Amino acid sequence: MERSGLGSLRGKGLAPVTLVTLLLLGACGVRQGASLDQETDSFARAGSAHAEWLTYGGTYDEQRHSRLMQVNTGNVDRLGVAWTYDLKTGRGVEATPIVANGIMYVTSAWSVLHALDARTGKELWVHDPAVDKAVGAKACCDVVNRGVAIRDGVIFLGVLDGRLEALDAKTGKLLWSVVTVDQSKPYTITGAPRVVKDMVLIGNGGAELGVRGYISAYDVKDGTLRWRFYTVPNPAKAPDGAASDSAHARLGNASWGDSGAWTSDGGGGTVWDSIVYDEVNDQVIMGVGNGSPWNAEKRDPAGKGDNLFLSSMVAVDADTGEYRWHFQGTPRDNWDYTATQTIILADLPLGAGGAARRVAMQAPKNGFFYVVDARTGEFLSGTAFVPQTWTTGLDPKGRPIEVAEARYGDEVVMLSPGPLGAHNWQPMAFSPETGLAYIPAQEVPQAMVRDALFEKQPAKWNTGMDFSAGLAPDLPEGTLKALRATLKGRLIAWDPVKREARWTVEHDGPWNGGILSTAGGLVFQGKLSGDLVAYDAATGRKLWSRNLKAGVAAPPVAYMIDGEQYLTVATGWGSAFALAGGFAFERAVPPMVGRVVTFKLGAKGEIPDPVLTPVDATPKAQSFGSATLISAGLTHYARNCAVCHGPLAISSGVLPDLRWSAITADKAAWAEVVLNGSLAGNGMVAFNRQLSPADAEAIRAYVLHQANSKLS
Ligand code: CA
Repeated sequence: MERSGLGSLRGKGLAPVTLVTLLLLGACGVRQGASLDQETDSFARAGSAHAEWLTYGGTYDEQRHSRLMQVNTGNVDRLGVAWTYDLKTGRGVEATPIVANGIMYVTSAWSVLHALDARTGKELWVHDPAVDKAVGAKACCDVVNRGVAIRDGVIFLGVLDGRLEALDAKTGKLLWSVVTVDQSKPYTITGAPRVVKDMVLIGNGGAELGVRGYISAYDVKDGTLRWRFYTVPNPAKAPDGAASDSAHARLGNASWGDSGAWTSDGGGGTVWDSIVYDEVNDQVIMGVGNGSPWNAEKRDPAGKGDNLFLSSMVAVDADTGEYRWHFQGTPRDNWDYTATQTIILADLPLGAGGAARRVAMQAPKNGFFYVVDARTGEFLSGTAFVPQTWTTGLDPKGRPIEVAEARYGDEVVMLSPGPLGAHNWQPMAFSPETGLAYIPAQEVPQAMVRDALFEKQPAKWNTGMDFSAGLAPDLPEGTLKALRATLKGRLIAWDPVKREARWTVEHDGPWNGGILSTAGGLVFQGKLSGDLVAYDAATGRKLWSRNLKAGVAAPPVAYMIDGEQYLTVATGWGSAFALAGGFAFERAVPPMVGRVVTFKLGAKGEIPDPVLTPVDATPKAQSFGSATLISAGLTHYARNCAVCHGPLAISSGVLPDLRWSAITADKAAWAEVVLNGSLAGNGMVAFNRQLSPADAEAIRAYVLHQANSKLS
């Protein structure tokens, strides 16, 4: 039976088993209605409407709304654990599982792909692309992977080091592999590929370190490059021989100056997450990331332009990659306000006389919920969905009206949202039944000040912003508590027509999981605490929860096999906030075992207890050095170490807390690791290009100072 993946569901008619499956489904728990026949014409929609979960966002429209309704508001309290699977990682897990032909494909840290029997969790095969762990130093936000794509029995996997691989869906055999980036540069791939027609699309990340963003379309058969669209002009403002040339000749080139870090580093604008296929308009809409460096004055000092197409939604022709339209939410980005967040396509009653209008919706980092016309990109509305301080609002075309302080200089300004965003990569969902978008929103403000000492450094973050802003070796008592109090997380049910929240659930803190909406009238979200919660989609009332014994950031999916509906989520604590937000926790979170956890009605399974190695949180040496040395150590630490090991030398536990390390206690061992890269095999590369031996020793003095201080 050849019915593996999206392709064979398309076009000439469905295979017999598919029809039988559809009929069975009609009898046991799929929303019926006028749209059903129409949707079976579209292979991607057919997938999520019924038994399977065939593409990252569930459908081409990426609404993450399952039409399954066997599990519903009346019986969700009977959900129990059907099976669990150990992903064998203590690093971040962000994957959306793909479910096709009874097989689940789920990725874990280091781009490792697991194929499981979707009914039992039995491992069928594992593909480890054997990423060189030193590549981990290029990954801004943990060595995560958000999932795969499938087409005609072939799985497509983006690999952290920039490879795109095609694998046989049944056996895991490698069919082809292409390198999609210049591997001498700090590019990474963490995002899920998307299959569009006979092409597989993939972007990349790296704008914290310094790269030029683009998206590529490869032939599904053999990995031949079909088209490429650069989101930022060629620094020479010359053609690349790429699909983006005409757009930059017309729009991009004039929006950038002729000097600054962008001319050597590429300017950023990476397409690291959201890529949607608008089947109605036969176009691809991509979400474009932040500028590199973040600080626009360092990036493009001569120009005063908008720096197209940073922090924008950009639509291109699906066949050729030629520019169609763009909407830039954050002109001349200065704050890491990526617009890579979930793009959802839907019909809303925004046409003349309340007629349906096809729109693209996005709630990017900058805190505004945007609705634009999907065909033209015309701005329809933009509304703040969390408190924000960087603007006084939007003008009639959707352009932000910035407050003067937002373009930070030498004075520290506290801005909301911060670089972690009002909404990050955790996907939002949209229910066409309630008409609501469900946003995993947060408030994580950030002290911002320009980095007076900025000069581009290889293999490290280059933001042009000073991460030691406002910090001192000895902070007043209560500082951490006050910082924690600024961090908020919530689930917002947003009405994109009325432009207001219908309901809001406050969480304990930020960085909770992505969303699944279902026709059973439910909204599911996992939380950092490990709780998976089901809410009433109409009211936000909490109907059920279960603790999964590890933090959840990934979004759940739903599928059906043999008349039974399953619900799956991958757990695993890590990613950007875990690395950068250790201070948010009263104590270090021990490494957690990432798992796939699957539920169904009436199941009685258990989730194994995690095997935790307690963190020995005692200093292994005394503090040493003068106040000047410690202070210099703070500056070097903030510039080189904080984004992985945590601000204030407080780690969340995903990567080692240096305060309690025996290596920190030993001058020679420290120098071997920090300067000579003796732990490069773990991802801790040598910093001898950034730090002198004296700098490294100053950092050690600062870390031991922190270890021997009472922080509160
Ligand atoms: Ca970024």
